[in-house]
Amino acid sequence: MNDFTTAILEKKDALQIHQMGFTPIADVHFSETVRHLCEANACGGYGSSWVCPPGVGTYEECKAAIQEYNNMFVFTTLHELEDSYDFEGMMEGKDRHNEICLDVIKFFREHYDGNALILAAERCTKCAKCTYPDAPCRFPDETYPSIESYGVEVNRLAKTVGVNYINGANTVTYFGCICFDKK
Ligand code: SF4
Repeated sequence: MNDFTTAILEKKDALQIHQMGFTPIADVHFSETVRHLCEANACGGYGSSWVCPPGVGTYEECKAAIQEYNNMFVFTTLHELEDSYDFEGMMEGKDRHNEICLDVIKFFREHYDGNALILAAERCTKCAKCTYPDAPCRFPDETYPSIESYGVEVNRLAKTVGVNYINGANTVTYFGCICFDKK
């Protein structure tokens, strides 16, 4: 794993990571309230794909899945908006975030071949019509649930790893993480 922790420092800017850090999973805080926010369905993802609740599993199952690991790598991407109502800009940022996540994951895989749980993308729009809930995901190795869908309190996680939860007016910040070092 030293390979990755060292290599990512040099590759951070090339991968377009805004900020990043590491934390023991024991210091990650969970809350079922985060899942209730998913149920409010502000993003429109709830109940529509395998990478959003309830398709990702119950709150307890998701929390337990993260706690099977010892450590977490957290990274953010930052995107400019025209103004705070720029919904189109937010969606473009989300798509760009998902592309950056795939590059980060590819880089991680080049340096670490152990088990890992990746929570990196936001609401999956890969297929014109998701197979959920009738058939398995078509691309399980190419799409990942969001951190929030696993019940992680991302604002507290940001503090723990020393990255900004938000980055000022007319910007949007998205998070990704990789859990590694399975117990
Ligand atoms: S890759 Fe396709 S089948 Fe899998 S979650 Fe995304 S939209 Fe659904």
